[in-house]
Amino acid sequence: MKKPYAGAPSDRRARGGKVEVTLIPGDGVGPEVMGAAVAVVDAAGVKIAWDQQLGGAAALKKLGTPLPDTLLRSLRHTRVALKGPLETRVGEGYRSINVHLRRTLDLYANLRPTRSFSGVHTPFRNVDLVVVRENTEDLYAGIEYQVAPGVVESIKVITARASLRIARFAFEFARRNRRRSVTAIHKANIMKLSDGLFLKCARSVAAHYRQIEYPIEYKEQIVDAACMRLVTDPSSFDVLLLENLYGDIVSDLCAGLVGGLGVVPGANYGQRGAIFEAVHGTAPDIAGKNAANPVAAILSAAMMLEYLGHPRDGARIREAVGDVLRKGRVLTRDLGGAASTSEMTAAIIRALK
Ligand code: ATP
Repeated sequence: MKKPYAGAPSDRRARGGKVEVTLIPGDGVGPEVMGAAVAVVDAAGVKIAWDQQLGGAAALKKLGTPLPDTLLRSLRHTRVALKGPLETRVGEGYRSINVHLRRTLDLYANLRPTRSFSGVHTPFRNVDLVVVRENTEDLYAGIEYQVAPGVVESIKVITARASLRIARFAFEFARRNRRRSVTAIHKANIMKLSDGLFLKCARSVAAHYRQIEYPIEYKEQIVDAACMRLVTDPSSFDVLLLENLYGDIVSDLCAGLVGGLGVVPGANYGQRGAIFEAVHGTAPDIAGKNAANPVAAILSAAMMLEYLGHPRDGARIREAVGDVLRKGRVLTRDLGGAASTSEMTAAIIRALK
């Protein structure tokens, strides 16, 4: 049966009391932060049968391919993954392993809740934004060619189908979470056809959501103006609705507002499954040093627990993370502390109630 909306709690049944989840440790800092996330989920007492799979550079080195069949089979079977960052430029024949994995389950909606934490010092307090990014098209369609020597073209693909479904996802998320507004971010003054179509779709979905129990305000803003506004008055935004490329850029900007890439979780949802992963990449500069901030990975795991029907455990984990950040005694270097990944993880586990 089709789920009522992408991101609705999974219909997967636990086998032998345990839900199966594909675990992809990933490259760079991936194995360290994923290890932290698994330890916290285990400590929270949620029973998960992890099916650990290699992907990216780690898989290329061991198995000769960055995208092994066993990984794809696992993903098609479990339909839920907790994933570390993967090196993207390692696979010949693959533009991006991440993009390929999302396509495997048609995970069209990327969701990045971006909240400030007390204890993490940033210019703004009380930032509470949700970035909804379209995941399947735009310049990521990968259509590029050389027209003549010295002249190349990259094609931006925008379709009504993908624009409508991501707009519906954003409004449905806003409705279910009692958010006050959705702002579509665009450059339709220049890309009149492509961004124009995206806006047209967003407007038509917004019109449907005028009739629900309470009004969700619909706004539009040009991407450059939106960036300036985000860094001067982030509270004027709530849910942000973006095409793929603007979503990539703006979500990193939003991460900067709340303490950086180390603290922002993410999820990719489709009608048939979900992959949970931190916003950050492989962070090669700190990989293998037990220095990465585990919070983004741990909060991504908390989002996964909600999806798997354990909202209370997800909330407990978020509270434990909030506690450790607020106290400010055990923080990794990116947050101004001197703790290692494992020390911060242990502190979060101790704070679990
Ligand atoms: P990729 O190409 O895999 O996206 P990248 O280097 O472009 O990698 P990130 O890996 O996201 O991008 O890292 C950007 C910066 O943020 C780096 O300086 C990195 O050390 C820092 N960073 C990213 N994740 C973390 C983390 N979990 N903890 C601490 N610092 C981090």
